[in-house]
Amino acid sequence: MRRGYRKRRLNPRFVILCATLASLTLAVAGVGLSRLMGGRGLPGEGSPGEELPVPDYVEKDYLTVNEWSRPGEALEDIDGVVIHYVGNPGTTARANRNYFESLSLGGPGIYASSHFVVGLEGEVIQCVPLTEIAYASNSRNEDTVSIEVCHPDEGGEFAPASYDRCVELTAWLCREFRLKPERDVIRHYDVTGKLCPLYYVENEEAWEGFLADVAAAKAALEKNS
Ligand SMILES: [Zn+2]
Repeated sequence: MRRGYRKRRLNPRFVILCATLASLTLAVAGVGLSRLMGGRGLPGEGSPGEELPVPDYVEKDYLTVNEWSRPGEALEDIDGVVIHYVGNPGTTARANRNYFESLSLGGPGIYASSHFVVGLEGEVIQCVPLTEIAYASNSRNEDTVSIEVCHPDEGGEFAPASYDRCVELTAWLCREFRLKPERDVIRHYDVTGKLCPLYYVENEEAWEGFLADVAAAKAALEKNS
Protein backbone atom coordinates (compact mmCIF):
# COMPACT_ATOMS: atom_id res chain seq x y z
CA MET A 1 0.00 0.00 0.00
CA ARG A 2 1.21 3.45 -0.72
CA ARG A 3 -0.43 5.33 2.09
CA GLY A 4 -0.08 9.04 2.06
CA TYR A 5 0.53 9.06 -1.67
CA ARG A 6 -2.26 11.50 -2.35
CA LYS A 7 -0.91 13.91 0.20
CA ARG A 8 2.49 14.06 -1.50
CA ARG A 9 1.10 14.36 -4.96
CA LEU A 10 2.10 17.64 -6.57
CA ASN A 11 -0.44 20.06 -7.89
CA PRO A 12 -0.48 19.46 -11.69
CA ARG A 13 -0.52 23.22 -12.36
CA PHE A 14 2.62 23.59 -10.28
CA VAL A 15 4.28 20.77 -12.26
CA ILE A 16 3.39 22.43 -15.58
CA LEU A 17 4.72 25.78 -14.35
CA CYS A 18 8.01 24.17 -13.28
CA ALA A 19 8.40 22.33 -16.59
CA THR A 20 7.72 25.53 -18.54
CA LEU A 21 10.26 27.48 -16.50
CA ALA A 22 12.84 24.70 -16.91
CA SER A 23 12.44 24.53 -20.67
CA LEU A 24 12.60 28.34 -20.98
CA THR A 25 15.83 28.33 -18.95
CA LEU A 26 17.29 25.59 -21.16
CA ALA A 27 16.31 27.45 -24.33
CA VAL A 28 17.93 30.69 -23.14
CA ALA A 29 21.07 28.81 -22.04
CA GLY A 30 21.18 26.97 -25.38
CA VAL A 31 21.04 30.18 -27.42
CA GLY A 32 23.69 31.71 -25.17
CA LEU A 33 25.98 28.72 -25.60
CA SER A 34 25.47 28.69 -29.34
CA ARG A 35 26.35 32.41 -29.51
CA LEU A 36 29.48 31.73 -27.50
CA MET A 37 30.48 29.10 -30.01
CA GLY A 38 29.96 31.52 -32.87
CA GLY A 39 26.70 30.04 -33.99
CA ARG A 40 23.47 31.76 -34.82
CA GLY A 41 21.37 29.66 -32.52
CA LEU A 42 19.75 27.35 -35.05
CA PRO A 43 21.07 24.44 -37.10
CA GLY A 44 21.93 25.98 -40.43
CA GLU A 45 22.23 25.16 -44.06
CA GLY A 46 25.95 24.95 -44.15
CA SER A 47 27.21 28.45 -43.54
CA PRO A 48 30.58 28.63 -41.85
CA GLY A 49 30.40 29.70 -38.25
CA GLU A 50 27.58 27.35 -37.37
CA GLU A 51 27.75 24.14 -35.39
CA LEU A 52 25.96 21.75 -37.72
CA PRO A 53 24.34 18.55 -36.58
CA VAL A 54 26.77 15.92 -37.86
CA PRO A 55 25.84 12.45 -39.16
CA ASP A 56 25.16 9.66 -36.65
CA TYR A 57 28.40 7.85 -37.36
CA VAL A 58 30.46 10.80 -36.10
CA GLU A 59 31.52 10.68 -32.46
CA LYS A 60 32.30 14.16 -31.18
CA ASP A 61 35.23 14.15 -28.81
CA TYR A 62 36.65 17.64 -29.02
CA LEU A 63 40.19 18.42 -27.99
CA THR A 64 40.78 20.80 -25.12
CA VAL A 65 41.23 24.33 -26.45
CA ASN A 66 45.01 24.82 -26.47
CA GLU A 67 47.78 26.50 -28.40
CA TRP A 68 49.12 23.34 -30.07
CA SER A 69 46.16 21.44 -31.47
CA ARG A 70 42.96 23.44 -30.99
CA PRO A 71 43.65 27.16 -31.02
CA GLY A 72 39.96 28.06 -30.87
CA GLU A 73 40.24 30.44 -33.83
CA ALA A 74 37.12 30.85 -35.95
CA LEU A 75 36.98 29.06 -39.29
CA GLU A 76 35.46 31.92 -41.26
CA ASP A 77 35.10 30.24 -44.66
CA ILE A 78 34.88 26.64 -45.73
CA ASP A 79 36.13 26.46 -49.30
CA GLY A 80 37.37 22.92 -49.36
CA VAL A 81 38.04 19.56 -47.73
CA VAL A 82 41.61 18.31 -47.36
CA ILE A 83 42.27 14.57 -47.17
CA HIS A 84 45.25 13.20 -45.20
CA TYR A 85 46.57 9.85 -44.07
CA VAL A 86 47.80 9.49 -40.50
CA GLY A 87 51.16 8.07 -41.62
CA ASN A 88 51.29 5.72 -38.66
CA PRO A 89 50.14 2.27 -39.89
CA GLY A 90 47.70 0.28 -37.81
CA THR A 91 46.87 3.07 -35.36
CA THR A 92 43.24 3.67 -34.45
CA ALA A 93 41.14 6.81 -34.73
CA ARG A 94 41.08 6.94 -30.93
CA ALA A 95 44.88 6.75 -30.69
CA ASN A 96 45.28 9.56 -33.21
CA ARG A 97 42.72 11.73 -31.45
CA ASN A 98 44.52 11.14 -28.15
CA TYR A 99 47.84 11.99 -29.77
CA PHE A 100 46.44 15.40 -30.80
CA GLU A 101 45.16 15.88 -27.27
CA SER A 102 48.57 14.98 -25.84
CA LEU A 103 50.14 17.80 -27.88
CA SER A 104 48.13 20.26 -25.78
CA LEU A 105 50.73 19.91 -23.05
CA GLY A 106 53.25 21.52 -25.40
CA GLY A 107 55.97 18.96 -24.65
CA PRO A 108 56.91 17.99 -28.21
CA GLY A 109 56.32 21.52 -29.50
CA ILE A 110 54.28 20.16 -32.41
CA TYR A 111 51.26 21.91 -33.87
CA ALA A 112 48.91 19.28 -35.29
CA SER A 113 45.26 18.22 -35.36
CA SER A 114 42.41 17.46 -37.70
CA HIS A 115 38.68 18.11 -37.69
CA PHE A 116 37.94 14.41 -38.26
CA VAL A 117 39.80 11.13 -37.93
CA VAL A 118 38.39 8.14 -39.84
CA GLY A 119 39.40 4.84 -38.24
CA LEU A 120 40.25 1.39 -39.55
CA GLU A 121 36.70 0.12 -38.97
CA GLY A 122 35.09 3.19 -40.50
CA GLU A 123 34.51 4.87 -37.14
CA VAL A 124 34.82 8.67 -37.10
CA ILE A 125 35.97 10.92 -34.27
CA GLN A 126 35.52 14.66 -34.57
CA CYS A 127 38.32 16.47 -32.72
CA VAL A 128 37.63 20.11 -33.62
CA PRO A 129 34.25 21.81 -34.27
CA LEU A 130 33.53 22.94 -37.82
CA THR A 131 33.38 26.49 -36.49
CA GLU A 132 37.11 26.46 -35.68
CA ILE A 133 40.36 25.90 -37.53
CA ALA A 134 42.44 22.76 -37.08
CA TYR A 135 46.19 22.44 -37.64
CA ALA A 136 46.44 20.00 -40.54
CA SER A 137 46.74 21.68 -43.91
CA ASN A 138 49.25 24.53 -43.55
CA SER A 139 48.18 27.57 -45.58
CA ARG A 140 44.72 26.05 -46.08
CA ASN A 141 43.95 25.71 -42.36
CA GLU A 142 42.14 29.02 -42.62
CA ASP A 143 39.46 27.89 -45.07
CA THR A 144 39.21 24.11 -45.15
CA VAL A 145 37.97 21.13 -43.18
CA SER A 146 40.52 18.36 -42.61
CA ILE A 147 40.04 14.59 -42.56
CA GLU A 148 42.81 12.25 -41.40
CA VAL A 149 42.36 8.62 -42.39
CA CYS A 150 43.88 5.60 -40.62
CA HIS A 151 45.44 2.86 -42.76
CA PRO A 152 46.62 -0.70 -42.10
CA ASP A 153 50.11 -0.52 -43.63
CA GLU A 154 53.00 1.64 -44.80
CA GLY A 155 51.61 1.94 -48.33
CA GLY A 156 48.86 4.14 -46.98
CA GLU A 157 45.96 2.66 -48.93
CA PHE A 158 42.74 3.02 -46.96
CA ALA A 159 40.97 -0.18 -45.86
CA PRO A 160 37.56 -0.59 -47.55
CA ALA A 161 35.61 0.42 -44.41
CA SER A 162 37.74 3.56 -43.96
CA TYR A 163 37.57 4.42 -47.66
CA ASP A 164 33.79 4.13 -47.80
CA ARG A 165 33.36 6.21 -44.66
CA CYS A 166 35.74 8.87 -45.89
CA VAL A 167 33.75 9.07 -49.14
CA GLU A 168 30.51 9.36 -47.17
CA LEU A 169 31.83 12.04 -44.81
CA THR A 170 33.45 14.06 -47.60
CA ALA A 171 30.23 13.90 -49.64
CA TRP A 172 28.25 15.11 -46.63
CA LEU A 173 30.65 18.04 -46.12
CA CYS A 174 30.43 18.91 -49.83
CA ARG A 175 26.66 19.00 -49.63
CA GLU A 176 26.56 21.03 -46.42
CA PHE A 177 29.08 23.62 -47.58
CA ARG A 178 28.12 23.60 -51.26
CA LEU A 179 31.49 22.36 -52.44
CA LYS A 180 32.31 20.66 -55.73
CA PRO A 181 34.23 17.41 -55.16
CA GLU A 182 36.33 17.69 -58.34
CA ARG A 183 37.35 21.26 -57.53
CA ASP A 184 37.22 21.62 -53.75
CA VAL A 185 38.30 18.23 -52.38
CA ILE A 186 42.09 18.17 -52.34
CA ARG A 187 45.01 16.27 -50.87
CA HIS A 188 47.48 17.66 -48.38
CA TYR A 189 49.90 17.10 -51.30
CA ASP A 190 48.02 19.69 -53.35
CA VAL A 191 48.72 22.30 -50.66
CA THR A 192 52.38 21.69 -49.80
CA GLY A 193 53.68 18.86 -51.99
CA LYS A 194 53.88 16.59 -48.92
CA LEU A 195 53.36 12.91 -49.81
CA CYS A 196 50.03 12.80 -48.00
CA PRO A 197 47.83 10.82 -48.33
CA LEU A 198 50.70 8.72 -49.68
CA TYR A 199 48.86 6.04 -51.66
CA TYR A 200 46.59 8.64 -53.31
CA VAL A 201 49.57 10.77 -54.29
CA GLU A 202 51.46 7.84 -55.76
CA ASN A 203 48.36 6.52 -57.53
CA GLU A 204 46.69 9.36 -59.35
CA GLU A 205 44.01 7.02 -60.68
CA ALA A 206 43.06 6.00 -57.16
CA TRP A 207 42.68 9.68 -56.26
CA GLU A 208 40.54 10.34 -59.35
CA GLY A 209 38.45 7.33 -58.37
CA PHE A 210 38.02 8.71 -54.85
CA LEU A 211 36.79 12.05 -56.20
CA ALA A 212 34.36 10.28 -58.54
CA ASP A 213 33.04 8.23 -55.61
CA VAL A 214 32.56 11.40 -53.54
CA ALA A 215 30.70 13.07 -56.42
CA ALA A 216 28.41 10.03 -56.74
CA ALA A 217 27.79 9.89 -52.98
CA LYS A 218 27.00 13.62 -52.92
CA ALA A 219 24.53 13.22 -55.79
CA ALA A 220 22.86 10.34 -53.90
CA LEU A 221 22.61 12.45 -50.72
CA GLU A 222 21.02 15.31 -52.65
CA LYS A 223 18.56 12.96 -54.28
CA ASN A 224 17.49 11.57 -50.92
CA SER A 225 17.14 14.90 -49.14
ZN1 LIG B 1 48.62 15.41 -44.30
